[in-house]
Amino acid sequence: MEPGIVVVGAGQAGFQLAASLREGGYRGALTLVGDEPALPYQRPPLSKAYLAGKTDAAGLALRPAGFFADHDITHRVASPATAIDRDGRRLVLADGTALPYGHLVIATGSRNRPLPVPGADLDGVRQLRGLADADALKAALEGTPRIVVIGAGFIGLEFAAVAASRGLSVTVVEAAGRPMARAVSARTAAFFQEAQESLGVAFAFTAGVTALRGREGRVASVVLADGRDLPADLVVVGIGVLPNGELAVAAGLPVADGIRVDAFLATPDPAVSAIGDCARFPSPHAHGLAGDGTVRIESVQNAIDQGRCLAARLTGKPAAYGALPWFWSDQGPHKLQIAGLSAPDDAAVVRGEGAAFSVFRFRDGVLRAVESVNRAGDHMIARRLLAAGTPLTPDQAGDPAFDLKALAMGRA
Ligand code: FAD
Ligand code: NAP
Repeated sequence: MEPGIVVVGAGQAGFQLAASLREGGYRGALTLVGDEPALPYQRPPLSKAYLAGKTDAAGLALRPAGFFADHDITHRVASPATAIDRDGRRLVLADGTALPYGHLVIATGSRNRPLPVPGADLDGVRQLRGLADADALKAALEGTPRIVVIGAGFIGLEFAAVAASRGLSVTVVEAAGRPMARAVSARTAAFFQEAQESLGVAFAFTAGVTALRGREGRVASVVLADGRDLPADLVVVGIGVLPNGELAVAAGLPVADGIRVDAFLATPDPAVSAIGDCARFPSPHAHGLAGDGTVRIESVQNAIDQGRCLAARLTGKPAAYGALPWFWSDQGPHKLQIAGLSAPDDAAVVRGEGAAFSVFRFRDGVLRAVESVNRAGDHMIARRLLAAGTPLTPDQAGDPAFDLKALAMGRA
Protein backbone atom coordinates (compact mmCIF):
# COMPACT_ATOMS: atom_id res chain seq x y z
CA MET A 1 0.00 0.00 0.00
CA GLU A 2 1.22 3.54 -0.78
CA PRO A 3 2.35 5.38 2.38
CA GLY A 4 -0.31 8.10 1.98
CA ILE A 5 -0.71 11.29 3.98
CA VAL A 6 0.46 11.68 7.58
CA VAL A 7 -0.65 14.72 9.59
CA VAL A 8 1.27 15.62 12.74
CA GLY A 9 -0.90 17.61 15.14
CA ALA A 10 -4.54 16.60 15.69
CA GLY A 11 -5.90 20.06 16.48
CA GLN A 12 -8.19 22.40 14.56
CA ALA A 13 -6.05 22.54 11.40
CA GLY A 14 -4.92 18.90 11.31
CA PHE A 15 -8.45 17.63 11.89
CA GLN A 16 -9.89 19.93 9.21
CA LEU A 17 -7.31 18.80 6.68
CA ALA A 18 -8.11 15.12 7.32
CA ALA A 19 -11.88 15.71 7.09
CA SER A 20 -11.54 17.83 3.94
CA LEU A 21 -9.26 15.26 2.27
CA ARG A 22 -11.94 12.60 2.61
CA GLU A 23 -14.66 15.06 1.57
CA GLY A 24 -12.54 15.93 -1.49
CA GLY A 25 -12.32 12.29 -2.55
CA TYR A 26 -8.87 11.31 -1.26
CA ARG A 27 -8.93 7.52 -0.88
CA GLY A 28 -5.34 6.78 0.21
CA ALA A 29 -4.04 6.02 3.67
CA LEU A 30 -4.57 8.89 6.12
CA THR A 31 -3.06 9.10 9.61
CA LEU A 32 -3.62 11.86 12.15
CA VAL A 33 -0.96 11.89 14.89
CA GLY A 34 -1.77 13.79 18.09
CA ASP A 35 0.04 14.16 21.40
CA GLU A 36 -3.11 14.87 23.42
CA PRO A 37 -5.21 12.05 24.92
CA ALA A 38 -8.60 13.22 23.61
CA LEU A 39 -10.46 13.41 20.32
CA PRO A 40 -9.64 16.59 18.33
CA TYR A 41 -11.49 19.43 20.07
CA GLN A 42 -12.25 23.15 19.82
CA ARG A 43 -10.13 25.43 22.01
CA PRO A 44 -12.26 28.64 21.96
CA PRO A 45 -14.77 27.45 24.59
CA LEU A 46 -11.90 26.67 26.99
CA SER A 47 -11.70 30.36 27.93
CA LYS A 48 -15.44 30.97 27.53
CA ALA A 49 -18.38 28.51 27.89
CA TYR A 50 -16.32 25.55 29.14
CA LEU A 51 -14.54 27.60 31.79
CA ALA A 52 -17.88 29.07 32.83
CA GLY A 53 -19.34 25.54 33.18
CA LYS A 54 -21.86 26.07 30.35
CA THR A 55 -20.62 23.16 28.22
CA ASP A 56 -18.84 19.89 28.98
CA ALA A 57 -15.84 18.11 27.41
CA ALA A 58 -18.06 16.07 25.08
CA GLY A 59 -19.41 19.35 23.69
CA LEU A 60 -15.90 20.39 22.64
CA ALA A 61 -15.12 17.43 20.36
CA LEU A 62 -14.90 18.40 16.69
CA ARG A 63 -16.47 15.04 15.76
CA PRO A 64 -17.56 11.96 17.71
CA ALA A 65 -15.16 8.97 17.88
CA GLY A 66 -17.10 7.08 15.19
CA PHE A 67 -16.23 9.72 12.59
CA PHE A 68 -12.61 8.55 12.33
CA ALA A 69 -13.44 4.88 11.73
CA ASP A 70 -16.27 5.81 9.35
CA HIS A 71 -13.87 7.91 7.27
CA ASP A 72 -10.96 5.48 7.46
CA ILE A 73 -8.77 7.99 9.31
CA THR A 74 -6.23 6.44 11.66
CA HIS A 75 -6.15 8.74 14.70
CA ARG A 76 -3.21 8.08 17.02
CA VAL A 77 -3.75 9.71 20.41
CA ALA A 78 -1.07 10.51 23.03
CA SER A 79 1.62 9.92 20.40
CA PRO A 80 4.06 12.83 20.26
CA ALA A 81 6.19 12.90 17.12
CA THR A 82 9.88 13.41 17.83
CA ALA A 83 11.54 13.67 14.41
CA ILE A 84 10.97 13.95 10.69
CA ASP A 85 13.25 11.74 8.58
CA ARG A 86 12.94 13.61 5.29
CA ASP A 87 15.36 11.36 3.37
CA GLY A 88 13.48 8.24 4.43
CA ARG A 89 10.08 10.01 4.32
CA ARG A 90 9.12 8.82 7.78
CA LEU A 91 7.66 10.51 10.84
CA VAL A 92 9.25 9.17 14.02
CA LEU A 93 7.12 8.94 17.18
CA ALA A 94 8.24 8.96 20.82
CA ASP A 95 7.52 5.23 21.16
CA GLY A 96 9.97 4.51 18.31
CA THR A 97 7.34 3.89 15.63
CA ALA A 98 8.33 5.32 12.22
CA LEU A 99 5.33 6.15 10.04
CA PRO A 100 6.15 6.26 6.32
CA TYR A 101 4.56 9.14 4.40
CA GLY A 102 4.03 10.15 0.82
CA HIS A 103 3.11 13.62 2.06
CA LEU A 104 3.62 15.01 5.56
CA VAL A 105 1.57 17.89 6.95
CA ILE A 106 2.87 19.72 10.02
CA ALA A 107 -0.06 21.11 12.03
CA THR A 108 1.53 21.29 15.46
CA GLY A 109 -0.03 24.59 16.51
CA SER A 110 1.55 26.80 19.16
CA ARG A 111 2.26 26.72 22.87
CA ASN A 112 1.98 29.44 25.48
CA ARG A 113 4.98 31.72 25.92
CA PRO A 114 6.52 31.08 29.34
CA LEU A 115 6.74 33.98 31.81
CA PRO A 116 10.46 34.76 32.01
CA VAL A 117 10.71 35.77 35.69
CA PRO A 118 11.75 34.07 38.95
CA GLY A 119 8.87 32.24 40.62
CA ALA A 120 7.05 31.38 37.39
CA ASP A 121 7.23 27.70 38.37
CA LEU A 122 5.47 28.12 41.74
CA ASP A 123 2.26 26.18 42.43
CA GLY A 124 -0.78 28.26 41.62
CA VAL A 125 0.77 29.75 38.45
CA ARG A 126 -1.23 28.53 35.48
CA GLN A 127 -1.65 28.89 31.73
CA LEU A 128 -4.50 27.99 29.39
CA ARG A 129 -3.92 26.17 26.13
CA GLY A 130 -5.55 22.73 26.29
CA LEU A 131 -8.37 20.83 27.91
CA ALA A 132 -6.14 19.66 30.79
CA ASP A 133 -5.19 23.30 31.53
CA ALA A 134 -8.85 24.34 31.50
CA ASP A 135 -9.80 21.54 33.90
CA ALA A 136 -6.99 22.52 36.26
CA LEU A 137 -8.00 26.19 36.09
CA LYS A 138 -11.66 25.42 36.72
CA ALA A 139 -10.68 23.51 39.83
CA ALA A 140 -8.29 26.28 40.93
CA LEU A 141 -11.09 28.86 40.70
CA GLU A 142 -12.97 27.13 43.50
CA GLY A 143 -12.17 28.96 46.70
CA THR A 144 -9.58 31.28 45.17
CA PRO A 145 -10.16 34.77 46.50
CA ARG A 146 -7.46 36.77 44.67
CA ILE A 147 -6.43 36.27 41.06
CA VAL A 148 -3.78 38.12 39.08
CA VAL A 149 -3.86 37.69 35.30
CA ILE A 150 -0.66 38.54 33.42
CA GLY A 151 -1.38 39.73 29.87
CA ALA A 152 -4.43 41.69 28.67
CA GLY A 153 -4.70 39.76 25.41
CA PHE A 154 -7.52 37.44 24.38
CA ILE A 155 -6.84 34.71 26.95
CA GLY A 156 -6.31 37.12 29.82
CA LEU A 157 -9.47 39.13 29.14
CA GLU A 158 -11.74 36.18 28.41
CA PHE A 159 -10.53 34.44 31.56
CA ALA A 160 -10.87 37.65 33.61
CA ALA A 161 -14.48 38.13 32.45
CA VAL A 162 -15.45 34.58 33.49
CA ALA A 163 -13.68 34.81 36.87
CA ALA A 164 -15.01 38.30 37.69
CA SER A 165 -18.54 37.27 36.72
CA ARG A 166 -18.25 34.69 39.50
CA GLY A 167 -17.50 37.45 41.99
CA LEU A 168 -13.77 36.69 42.29
CA SER A 169 -11.21 39.47 42.72
CA VAL A 170 -9.25 39.85 39.45
CA THR A 171 -6.37 42.20 38.59
CA VAL A 172 -5.00 42.16 35.03
CA VAL A 173 -1.37 43.23 34.59
CA GLU A 174 -0.38 44.30 31.08
CA ALA A 175 2.96 45.42 29.61
CA ALA A 176 1.30 47.73 27.04
CA GLY A 177 -0.76 50.84 27.78
CA ARG A 178 -4.16 49.30 27.02
CA PRO A 179 -5.84 45.93 26.50
CA MET A 180 -5.43 44.02 23.19
CA ALA A 181 -3.00 46.77 22.15
CA ARG A 182 -1.76 45.04 19.01
CA ALA A 183 -5.11 43.62 17.94
CA VAL A 184 -7.59 46.53 18.18
CA SER A 185 -7.96 50.32 18.01
CA ALA A 186 -7.84 52.57 21.08
CA ARG A 187 -11.64 52.99 20.90
CA THR A 188 -12.36 49.25 21.04
CA ALA A 189 -9.72 48.74 23.73
CA ALA A 190 -11.29 51.48 25.86
CA PHE A 191 -14.74 49.91 25.50
CA PHE A 192 -13.54 46.51 26.67
CA GLN A 193 -11.51 48.01 29.50
CA GLU A 194 -14.64 49.74 30.80
CA ALA A 195 -16.74 46.61 30.30
CA GLN A 196 -14.23 44.55 32.28
CA GLU A 197 -14.05 47.21 34.99
CA SER A 198 -17.83 47.14 35.30
CA LEU A 199 -17.53 43.40 36.01
CA GLY A 200 -15.09 44.31 38.81
CA VAL A 201 -11.77 43.69 37.02
CA ALA A 202 -8.87 46.00 37.99
CA PHE A 203 -6.04 46.81 35.57
CA ALA A 204 -2.35 47.69 35.88
CA PHE A 205 -1.04 48.93 32.51
CA THR A 206 2.56 49.57 31.38
CA ALA A 207 3.40 47.21 34.18
CA GLY A 208 6.41 44.92 33.94
CA VAL A 209 6.35 41.81 36.11
CA THR A 210 9.75 41.26 37.73
CA ALA A 211 9.06 38.25 39.96
CA LEU A 212 6.43 36.03 41.50
CA ARG A 213 6.86 35.59 45.24
CA GLY A 214 5.89 32.36 46.98
CA ARG A 215 5.15 30.96 50.39
CA GLU A 216 5.84 27.27 51.00
CA GLY A 217 6.09 26.62 47.27
CA ARG A 218 2.80 28.38 46.41
CA VAL A 219 2.46 31.72 44.72
CA ALA A 220 1.59 34.54 47.11
CA SER A 221 2.14 37.74 45.12
CA VAL A 222 3.16 39.34 41.82
CA VAL A 223 5.95 41.90 41.99
CA LEU A 224 5.87 44.77 39.48
CA ALA A 225 8.79 46.85 38.23
CA ASP A 226 7.40 49.96 39.98
CA GLY A 227 7.66 48.14 43.32
CA ARG A 228 4.00 47.19 43.74
CA ASP A 229 3.42 43.74 45.20
CA LEU A 230 -0.02 42.37 44.23
CA PRO A 231 -1.29 39.58 46.52
CA ALA A 232 -2.40 36.50 44.54
CA ASP A 233 -3.67 33.00 45.30
CA LEU A 234 -3.82 32.17 41.59
CA VAL A 235 -1.81 33.66 38.72
CA VAL A 236 -2.90 33.09 35.13
CA VAL A 237 -0.29 33.83 32.47
CA GLY A 238 -1.57 34.79 28.99
CA ILE A 239 1.30 36.55 27.28
CA GLY A 240 1.05 35.14 23.80
CA VAL A 241 2.25 31.98 22.09
CA LEU A 242 5.27 30.48 20.36
CA PRO A 243 4.80 28.38 17.21
CA ASN A 244 5.69 24.69 17.53
CA GLY A 245 8.37 24.61 14.84
CA GLU A 246 10.97 22.37 16.50
CA LEU A 247 10.28 19.29 14.34
CA ALA A 248 10.73 21.41 11.22
CA VAL A 249 13.90 23.10 12.51
CA ALA A 250 15.49 19.74 13.33
CA ALA A 251 14.55 18.47 9.86
CA GLY A 252 16.35 21.41 8.23
CA LEU A 253 13.23 23.25 7.05
CA PRO A 254 13.18 27.08 7.20
CA VAL A 255 11.58 28.40 10.40
CA ALA A 256 11.46 32.02 11.60
CA ASP A 257 8.54 32.77 13.93
CA GLY A 258 6.69 29.95 12.17
CA ILE A 259 7.41 27.28 9.61
CA ARG A 260 7.95 29.06 6.31
CA VAL A 261 5.57 28.00 3.56
CA ASP A 262 4.70 29.43 0.16
CA ALA A 263 1.29 30.66 -0.99
CA PHE A 264 0.29 27.01 -1.52
CA LEU A 265 1.25 26.17 2.10
CA ALA A 266 4.20 24.08 0.89
CA THR A 267 7.64 24.04 2.53
CA PRO A 268 10.69 23.92 0.22
CA ASP A 269 10.43 20.10 0.53
CA PRO A 270 7.63 19.17 -1.91
CA ALA A 271 6.65 16.26 0.35
CA VAL A 272 6.06 18.50 3.41
CA SER A 273 3.44 21.22 4.05
CA ALA A 274 2.52 23.21 7.17
CA ILE A 275 -0.80 24.77 8.25
CA GLY A 276 -2.43 26.56 11.18
CA ASP A 277 -0.84 28.42 14.11
CA CYS A 278 2.63 26.98 13.33
CA ALA A 279 2.82 28.20 9.69
CA ARG A 280 4.14 31.54 8.38
CA PHE A 281 2.82 32.29 4.90
CA PRO A 282 2.61 35.15 2.37
CA SER A 283 -0.78 36.86 2.62
CA PRO A 284 -2.48 39.30 0.25
CA HIS A 285 -4.05 40.81 3.38
CA ALA A 286 -0.64 41.75 4.87
CA HIS A 287 -0.36 44.72 2.49
CA GLY A 288 1.39 47.63 4.22
CA LEU A 289 2.02 45.76 7.47
CA ALA A 290 5.51 45.72 8.97
CA GLY A 291 7.65 42.79 7.84
CA ASP A 292 8.18 40.86 4.64
CA GLY A 293 4.55 40.32 3.59
CA THR A 294 4.25 37.04 5.48
CA VAL A 295 2.09 36.47 8.54
CA ARG A 296 1.39 33.77 11.10
CA ILE A 297 -2.21 33.80 12.22
CA GLU A 298 -3.54 32.24 15.42
CA SER A 299 -7.23 31.67 14.79
CA VAL A 300 -9.86 29.04 14.13
CA GLN A 301 -10.76 30.60 10.77
CA ASN A 302 -7.17 30.38 9.58
CA ALA A 303 -6.74 26.78 10.79
CA ILE A 304 -9.95 25.69 9.04
CA ASP A 305 -9.37 27.58 5.79
CA GLN A 306 -5.75 26.41 5.52
CA GLY A 307 -6.85 22.81 6.16
CA ARG A 308 -9.37 23.14 3.33
CA CYS A 309 -6.92 24.89 0.99
CA LEU A 310 -4.23 22.26 1.44
CA ALA A 311 -6.72 19.39 1.09
CA ALA A 312 -7.76 20.89 -2.26
CA ARG A 313 -4.14 20.96 -3.45
CA LEU A 314 -3.51 17.39 -2.32
CA THR A 315 -6.59 16.26 -4.25
CA GLY A 316 -5.53 17.95 -7.46
CA LYS A 317 -7.15 21.40 -7.12
CA PRO A 318 -4.28 23.71 -6.16
CA ALA A 319 -5.04 27.36 -5.30
CA ALA A 320 -3.02 30.01 -3.49
CA TYR A 321 -4.22 30.63 0.06
CA GLY A 322 -5.88 34.05 0.24
CA ALA A 323 -8.74 33.69 2.71
CA LEU A 324 -9.65 36.84 4.61
CA PRO A 325 -8.57 36.58 8.27
CA TRP A 326 -11.32 37.04 10.87
CA PHE A 327 -11.52 36.53 14.62
CA TRP A 328 -13.89 36.84 17.54
CA SER A 329 -13.74 37.18 21.30
CA ASP A 330 -16.52 36.92 23.89
CA GLN A 331 -15.96 38.92 27.08
CA GLY A 332 -18.81 38.95 29.56
CA PRO A 333 -21.96 39.94 27.65
CA HIS A 334 -20.00 41.55 24.80
CA LYS A 335 -18.92 40.14 21.45
CA LEU A 336 -15.93 41.47 19.54
CA GLN A 337 -15.51 40.42 15.90
CA ILE A 338 -12.58 41.47 13.74
CA ALA A 339 -12.29 41.13 9.97
CA GLY A 340 -8.97 41.77 8.21
CA LEU A 341 -5.55 42.63 9.63
CA SER A 342 -4.86 46.04 11.18
CA ALA A 343 -1.70 47.89 12.19
CA PRO A 344 -1.50 50.10 15.29
CA ASP A 345 -1.24 53.32 13.21
CA ASP A 346 -4.20 52.61 10.91
CA ALA A 347 -6.79 55.41 10.83
CA ALA A 348 -9.96 54.61 12.78
CA VAL A 349 -13.48 55.65 11.70
CA VAL A 350 -16.31 54.81 14.09
CA ARG A 351 -19.85 53.83 13.04
CA GLY A 352 -22.51 53.35 15.71
CA GLU A 353 -22.39 54.30 19.37
CA GLY A 354 -22.77 53.12 22.95
CA ALA A 355 -22.26 49.41 23.36
CA ALA A 356 -22.80 48.65 19.65
CA PHE A 357 -20.31 50.14 17.20
CA SER A 358 -17.77 49.25 14.55
CA VAL A 359 -14.34 50.74 13.94
CA PHE A 360 -13.24 50.84 10.30
CA ARG A 361 -9.44 50.79 9.97
CA PHE A 362 -7.87 52.46 6.92
CA ARG A 363 -4.24 52.18 5.82
CA ASP A 364 -3.11 54.58 3.08
CA GLY A 365 -6.79 55.39 2.54
CA VAL A 366 -7.74 51.76 1.88
CA LEU A 367 -10.06 49.77 4.17
CA ARG A 368 -7.95 47.01 5.77
CA ALA A 369 -9.85 45.84 8.85
CA VAL A 370 -13.11 46.30 10.76
CA GLU A 371 -13.66 45.74 14.50
CA SER A 372 -17.30 45.21 15.39
CA VAL A 373 -18.55 45.34 18.96
CA ASN A 374 -22.01 43.82 19.37
CA ARG A 375 -22.70 44.61 15.66
CA ALA A 376 -22.68 41.20 13.96
CA GLY A 377 -24.32 42.64 10.84
CA ASP A 378 -21.40 45.03 10.29
CA HIS A 379 -18.96 42.16 10.69
CA MET A 380 -20.59 40.10 7.96
CA ILE A 381 -20.70 43.13 5.65
CA ALA A 382 -17.04 43.91 6.44
CA ARG A 383 -16.01 40.38 5.52
CA ARG A 384 -17.68 40.75 2.14
CA LEU A 385 -16.19 44.17 1.47
CA LEU A 386 -12.67 43.16 2.50
CA ALA A 387 -12.70 39.82 0.70
CA ALA A 388 -13.88 41.45 -2.53
CA GLY A 389 -11.64 44.52 -2.13
CA THR A 390 -14.69 46.76 -2.64
CA PRO A 391 -13.60 50.42 -2.32
CA LEU A 392 -15.05 52.29 0.66
CA THR A 393 -14.04 55.80 1.71
CA PRO A 394 -13.60 56.88 5.35
CA ASP A 395 -16.48 59.37 4.85
CA GLN A 396 -18.81 56.63 3.65
CA ALA A 397 -17.79 54.38 6.57
CA GLY A 398 -18.58 57.11 9.11
CA ASP A 399 -21.87 58.23 7.50
CA PRO A 400 -24.76 56.39 9.24
CA ALA A 401 -26.97 57.12 6.20
CA PHE A 402 -24.60 55.37 3.79
CA ASP A 403 -25.95 51.90 2.91
CA LEU A 404 -23.01 49.59 3.58
CA LYS A 405 -25.05 46.47 3.01
CA ALA A 406 -26.06 47.59 -0.46
CA LEU A 407 -22.40 48.27 -1.26
CA ALA A 408 -21.37 44.82 -0.03
CA MET A 409 -24.14 43.18 -2.06
CA GLY A 410 -23.10 45.12 -5.17
CA ARG A 411 -26.28 47.23 -5.20
CA ALA A 412 -24.78 50.64 -4.34
P1 FAD B 1 -3.94 23.47 17.72
O1 FAD B 1 -5.43 23.48 17.70
O2 FAD B 1 -3.24 23.98 18.93
O3 FAD B 1 -3.49 21.96 17.43
C1 FAD B 1 -2.15 21.55 17.39
C2 FAD B 1 -2.06 20.17 17.98
O4 FAD B 1 -0.78 19.61 17.69
C3 FAD B 1 -2.19 20.17 19.49
O5 FAD B 1 -3.07 19.17 19.90
C4 FAD B 1 -0.77 19.89 19.94
O6 FAD B 1 -0.74 19.28 21.23
C5 FAD B 1 -0.32 18.96 18.84
N1 FAD B 1 1.13 18.76 18.75
C6 FAD B 1 2.11 19.68 18.90
N2 FAD B 1 3.33 19.12 18.74
C7 FAD B 1 3.10 17.81 18.46
C8 FAD B 1 3.96 16.70 18.21
N3 FAD B 1 5.30 16.82 18.19
N4 FAD B 1 3.40 15.49 17.97
C9 FAD B 1 2.05 15.34 17.97
N5 FAD B 1 1.20 16.35 18.21
C10 FAD B 1 1.71 17.57 18.45
N6 FAD B 1 -9.27 31.41 17.97
C11 FAD B 1 -10.32 32.07 17.47
O7 FAD B 1 -10.35 32.30 16.25
N7 FAD B 1 -11.35 32.49 18.26
C12 FAD B 1 -11.36 32.23 19.59
O8 FAD B 1 -12.28 32.62 20.28
C13 FAD B 1 -10.26 31.52 20.15
N8 FAD B 1 -10.24 31.22 21.47
C14 FAD B 1 -9.19 30.50 21.97
C15 FAD B 1 -9.19 30.17 23.33
C16 FAD B 1 -8.13 29.49 23.87
C17 FAD B 1 -8.13 29.13 25.35
C18 FAD B 1 -7.04 29.09 23.06
C19 FAD B 1 -5.90 28.31 23.65
C20 FAD B 1 -7.04 29.39 21.71
C21 FAD B 1 -8.11 30.10 21.16
N9 FAD B 1 -8.15 30.44 19.81
C22 FAD B 1 -9.21 31.12 19.29
C23 FAD B 1 -7.04 30.08 18.92
C24 FAD B 1 -7.35 28.78 18.15
O9 FAD B 1 -7.83 27.78 19.02
C25 FAD B 1 -6.08 28.31 17.44
O10 FAD B 1 -5.67 29.32 16.55
C26 FAD B 1 -6.32 27.01 16.69
O11 FAD B 1 -6.61 25.96 17.59
C27 FAD B 1 -5.10 26.66 15.85
O12 FAD B 1 -5.24 25.39 15.29
P2 FAD B 1 -3.95 24.47 15.05
O13 FAD B 1 -4.46 23.17 14.56
O14 FAD B 1 -2.95 25.21 14.28
O15 FAD B 1 -3.34 24.28 16.51
P1 NAP C 1 -2.21 37.54 22.88
O1 NAP C 1 -3.60 37.80 22.46
O2 NAP C 1 -1.09 37.65 21.93
O3 NAP C 1 -1.99 38.51 24.12
C1 NAP C 1 -0.85 38.51 24.94
C2 NAP C 1 -0.83 39.83 25.70
O4 NAP C 1 0.11 39.77 26.76
C3 NAP C 1 -0.44 41.00 24.80
O5 NAP C 1 -1.27 42.09 25.10
C4 NAP C 1 1.00 41.22 25.21
O6 NAP C 1 1.42 42.55 24.99
C5 NAP C 1 0.95 40.93 26.68
N1 NAP C 1 2.26 40.61 27.25
C6 NAP C 1 3.31 40.02 26.62
N2 NAP C 1 4.34 39.84 27.50
C7 NAP C 1 3.91 40.34 28.71
C8 NAP C 1 4.49 40.41 30.01
N3 NAP C 1 5.73 39.92 30.24
N4 NAP C 1 3.78 40.99 31.01
C9 NAP C 1 2.53 41.45 30.80
N5 NAP C 1 1.91 41.40 29.58
C10 NAP C 1 2.58 40.83 28.56
O7 NAP C 1 -2.06 36.09 23.48
P2 NAP C 1 -2.93 35.30 24.56
O8 NAP C 1 -4.02 36.14 25.09
O9 NAP C 1 -1.92 34.71 25.50
O10 NAP C 1 -3.58 34.15 23.73
C11 NAP C 1 -2.79 33.00 23.37
C12 NAP C 1 -3.34 32.36 22.12
O11 NAP C 1 -4.70 32.00 22.26
C13 NAP C 1 -3.25 33.24 20.92
O12 NAP C 1 -2.97 32.39 19.83
C14 NAP C 1 -4.62 33.79 20.81
O13 NAP C 1 -4.94 34.16 19.49
C15 NAP C 1 -5.43 32.61 21.24
N6 NAP C 1 -6.72 33.04 21.75
C16 NAP C 1 -7.58 33.65 20.92
C17 NAP C 1 -8.78 34.07 21.38
C18 NAP C 1 -9.70 34.77 20.45
O14 NAP C 1 -9.38 34.90 19.27
N7 NAP C 1 -10.84 35.19 20.95
C19 NAP C 1 -9.15 33.85 22.69
C20 NAP C 1 -8.25 33.26 23.55
C21 NAP C 1 -7.03 32.85 23.05
P3 NAP C 1 2.24 42.86 23.65
O15 NAP C 1 1.32 42.63 22.52
O16 NAP C 1 2.65 44.29 23.84
O17 NAP C 1 3.40 41.88 23.63
